[in-house]
Amino acid sequence: MPDFESVIGLEVHCELATATKLFCGCRNAFGDEPNTNVCPVCLGLPGSLPVLNAGAVELAMRIGMALHCEVRPSVFHRKNYFYPDMPKDYQVSQYDEPINVDGYLELPDGSRVGIVRAHLEEDTGKTTHVGGGGRIHDAEHALVDYNRAGVPLVEIVSAPDLRTSGQARAYAGELRSILVATGASDGRMEEGSMRVDANVSIRPVGSAELGTRCEIKNLNSLRSLVRAIDHEIARQTEVVGAGDRVVQQTRHWDEEAGRTVALRSKEEAFDYRYFPEPDLVPVAPDAGWQEEVASALPPMPAERRARLRSLVAPEGAVAAAQDDQIATVVEQELDALVVAAVEGGVGAGLALARTANEAAADAEGSRKVDPQAFRALLLLEQEGTITATQAKAVLGELLEHGGDPAEIARRKGFEAMDADRLAATVADVVAANPPEWERFRSGEDKLAQFFIGQVMKATSGKADGKAVVAELRRLRG
Ligand code: ADP
Ligand code: MG
Ligand code: ZN
Repeated sequence: MPDFESVIGLEVHCELATATKLFCGCRNAFGDEPNTNVCPVCLGLPGSLPVLNAGAVELAMRIGMALHCEVRPSVFHRKNYFYPDMPKDYQVSQYDEPINVDGYLELPDGSRVGIVRAHLEEDTGKTTHVGGGGRIHDAEHALVDYNRAGVPLVEIVSAPDLRTSGQARAYAGELRSILVATGASDGRMEEGSMRVDANVSIRPVGSAELGTRCEIKNLNSLRSLVRAIDHEIARQTEVVGAGDRVVQQTRHWDEEAGRTVALRSKEEAFDYRYFPEPDLVPVAPDAGWQEEVASALPPMPAERRARLRSLVAPEGAVAAAQDDQIATVVEQELDALVVAAVEGGVGAGLALARTANEAAADAEGSRKVDPQAFRALLLLEQEGTITATQAKAVLGELLEHGGDPAEIARRKGFEAMDADRLAATVADVVAANPPEWERFRSGEDKLAQFFIGQVMKATSGKADGKAVVAELRRLRG
């Protein structure tokens, strides 16, 4: 049997963060009392007419531009099918003339994934199956919430350029950052703001043709995305290994069972009977509007990473570990902290490490921290006024209550230990532990830990570990 490679293409639905829905004035909000944000238009009542939300068109253009797409005149179609959470029995979507086409997304490692299209459409309502474990088959009844019906979506369709679940994860993570950066979305996968369908196939390595694919619907976390793809690749490899053929199917990811299960095959696929929506005119943003949107677009993640790289290594070469930290900082939207710190005289290594490790551990809190306060804190650490451990404690306080780092450090009693007092304490500890000192002197470096522990005890943790080691070395001669 030849070696196989996997081929993956992702379809991502992004709910747009507009104030109102796509074709009516109802509030677009997550978590409101069910069926309170509804009107004749989004309930599909006879005689109601849609009016296109210009804000949604603008966000769709921003997404297209951020993905290097061509923005084109577009047409809405009706996609007809029956489902109880879709009161009109058709979804208004863009079909063969989408607003954005032919772009690409650049992954943090510099590789590019093609974007086929990014079109506008409306969301459906939300059905909850009650009883029978929440699955439709055994449910006793269903509840429908139409608050989501008519919420604007952009669907972003990638080319089948991805090869591994890791790349798919990187793509979805980067796309999420881009959607947040454009202001189009809050990117909250757990609230359904971003939902991913994964198309997966396998083929013999070296083959130029695509294999038969399966589409896994509605993955709502990056973790599920990776697990579902890995499972699906293994399943298809087993099917082919047994001499069978993969059947084109839509599949569902069962998170608990850790496997994909068939929903429907190609033969059962819907015929959507698309036709142009007669109640809406084509959308053709003119050059003036497009320029306005393009010029208001903030820097995207790829550009922000490049900026951090040039701050960290003006000569050009960034170490791999720092590149990972830069990726984390941008993904968590903490770049402002690093930029302010480095521009304010903090070493790039320290600024990056503290942001990617400590600040990113509470990214939501850290995004609210005043970058100048963060800079001041790192300067205290850099100048040796407080130790690394103390700096972390001050950051914790800064995240919780804000304030001036120097003042927080004082309040916590993180006074700088002057060199004389430190030297005196080290000398006391050495005198009190002759056997350990003898071992350290004869080259057992790990005994340094013992002395650091003793000095910390004697100073209630105020000493700087590095300074203690330096003093021990000095005494050893
Ligand atoms: P449809 O509109 O029927 O879902 P498309 O051809 O538009 O089909 O493709 C949808 C998604 O599936 C795209 O992201 C594309 O990259 C991906 N895709 C298409 N063919 C394959 C394949 N053989 N293997 C993996 N992904 C694929
Ligand atoms: Mg599809
Ligand atoms: Zn409405």
